[in-house]
Amino acid sequence: MRFFLPLALALSLFLSGCGQRTAAPPPQMSPPAGEPAPLPEPAPLPEPEPVPEPVPPPDPPPSSADFVPAADFIPGIRVDLKYAGEDNFTGQVIYDFTEAYLRYGTARKLAAAQEALAAQGYSLLIWDAFRPTEAQFRLWEACPDPVYVANPERGFSSHSRGNTVDVTLVLEDGSPVEMPTGFDDFSPQADLDYSDVPETAAANARLLENTMAEQGFKPYAGEWWHFSDEDSYPVEADFVPGK
Ligand SMILES: [Zn+2]
Repeated sequence: MRFFLPLALALSLFLSGCGQRTAAPPPQMSPPAGEPAPLPEPAPLPEPEPVPEPVPPPDPPPSSADFVPAADFIPGIRVDLKYAGEDNFTGQVIYDFTEAYLRYGTARKLAAAQEALAAQGYSLLIWDAFRPTEAQFRLWEACPDPVYVANPERGFSSHSRGNTVDVTLVLEDGSPVEMPTGFDDFSPQADLDYSDVPETAAANARLLENTMAEQGFKPYAGEWWHFSDEDSYPVEADFVPGK
């Protein structure tokens, strides 16, 4: 046994020496004399990041009390402001703008009503929306009778709060459907008791009334077309539509 121990030691030294030789790095090749050493390839520069076009910040959504042109926020709604022309019970132009302005909060509720009606093939048609206080004086001048017009000396119509609309139903293509009466008809047939009007007119008025009520509008007992947002706002004396 003593004979084998030095041999095993020598063998293990020899093998570990082999291992070191194979792991050694290869010798560096020197360039031939007189030739400059090749420069190392420069690392490719990274592609410059494209500079994005400055994006203007999005307009913040209006707040509930802001006045907006309702049609801008209510797809498919139709507008024919009766007091912007002479086709109203006074026969006079009462205001000089043709867009229906409402508080944004009210316009959103009206959009929900429009969507529900559009699903059934109908559309809303706005006859009156925000009415400037000045227009209320003009209406009163044209018709100084408190049965038909709110006396501006005693208080303004809820139309001047921007949360009230006069609306009727039409078909999606704008063609009329039968309703109990025309706009600003002061006969008993204009009230919410539909028993005195034709069945189709009653059904259409009921559809309008129920749809508006579902979206948070209060009807007015005397006029089937007049609805106020349950959320109220102060009378607005300074806002001038279209300015
Ligand atoms: Zn009204």
